[in-house]
Amino acid sequence: MNFKNKKVTVVGLGRSGFAAAKFLVRQGAIVFATDASTRSDVLENACFLKSLGVQAETGRHTAPFIKKSALVVTSPGVPKTSPALVLAKKYRRPVISEIELASYFCKGRIIGITGSNGKTTTSHLVHRVLKRAGRKSVLCGNVGRSFLDALPDIDSKSWVVLELSSFQLEDSPSFRPRIAVVLNISPNHLDRHKTLEDYVSAKERVFLNQKKTDALILNFDDPVVRKMAMKACSRVISFSKSRLQQGVFSDRGHVVVRQNGADVRWLRVAGFQLKGSHNLENIMAATAVACLLKLPKKSVQSALDHFTTLEHRMEPLGKIGAVQFVNDSKSTTPDSTKAAIQALRTPIVLIAGGRDKGVDFGRIEPLLLEQVKAAVLYGEARRKIASAWKSYRSYQLQEDFKQAVERGFSLCSPGDTLLLSPMCASYDQFHSFEERGETFKRIFEELKCRAPAY
Ligand code: ADP
Repeated sequence: MNFKNKKVTVVGLGRSGFAAAKFLVRQGAIVFATDASTRSDVLENACFLKSLGVQAETGRHTAPFIKKSALVVTSPGVPKTSPALVLAKKYRRPVISEIELASYFCKGRIIGITGSNGKTTTSHLVHRVLKRAGRKSVLCGNVGRSFLDALPDIDSKSWVVLELSSFQLEDSPSFRPRIAVVLNISPNHLDRHKTLEDYVSAKERVFLNQKKTDALILNFDDPVVRKMAMKACSRVISFSKSRLQQGVFSDRGHVVVRQNGADVRWLRVAGFQLKGSHNLENIMAATAVACLLKLPKKSVQSALDHFTTLEHRMEPLGKIGAVQFVNDSKSTTPDSTKAAIQALRTPIVLIAGGRDKGVDFGRIEPLLLEQVKAAVLYGEARRKIASAWKSYRSYQLQEDFKQAVERGFSLCSPGDTLLLSPMCASYDQFHSFEERGETFKRIFEELKCRAPAY
């Protein structure tokens, strides 16, 4: 694709938009960049881009930018209601994601991983498994490094392990991964997608351009994901926690691959450091990829045995007295909090809250009644969560995060776990889930210093 002298507007100047603008400059395009925000990172990025000759505006979106352009590249954080995208629609300018743009220039083969929960963990698992088997793997996308920034490391022998959010897939009309993975679907981002159908359609984009020679890995236990097989042109490989006629499943402490009527025990579950049945699903998805690529079983087992939890995802912090602290700040949906509660074997005091993403918090109530002895709800969503719970009454409300954690700790008895698994986005009191998790860790250290020695 030739961008020389082509006028392109980049909407959003966060990580992915910044990467897109720099990339387009290198391709010889005439680049405009626009971001409605005046956050410090946005201003810094705009300043750098100006030094490359980009016309950049911040704090607003103006029509001439879009009108003059032949193409608009948007960022995952920009909603469809943004004036810039409304203008693009009005002037009939094509809008694509940074992922779509990068895919035009990608020499490697792509493994696209999506789902409501577990994308980052599974992407890391697949990357680790490939590397352990001596394959060239480049990890990028939603996971941290943008796809465009990773392009220089990608050659024709590379596997590109690409974590994909629904927002990135939405504007990727011709994107085609050789292997696509859909882990699960639960209501998420309904503040942006409006309906569950829209959200599911965005996720389905990961496989809709696949060909017969490509593969699609689906979670058979998730009814919405299972149905996707009917729309696929590619070869479908299912994974499940129950026995399957064909595919990858778990059975009596093993991950088993069943092909052409024969069971092959691939992996021993006992060796894995990642715990919880949700992580077993992620591991089975990674096993399906390993199996497709004919990686040696021994190296897959070794990669998975050495894989420990990622930061902010069921991360054990240690104990104060006999109370265990677990940081699951990355949990921003009721389903990931459900997975966290199910993975623990102790009584739980739960800290939840933050900014609502338009989901139903009532989904989690039956599990709370069984396993959560108390909950402290904080932040913007605290009252909405409380009113969604009709029978569970063992909760307290506390606006401030730190006070909520301290209150939660005061409710713990020896042997309990104080679990931060918020079910909500962090943006009401923090810049990111990472900042929320770091704050939780700091409070843990403070409480530890204050606690009497045991
Ligand atoms: P994502 O990138 O999709 O947000 P992560 O791997 O970062 O996924 O995990 C996000 C949250 O979801 C964490 O709280 C984690 O413990 C939980 N989680 C991970 N895998 C799954 C899964 N397969 N099903 C449900 N929850 C999961």
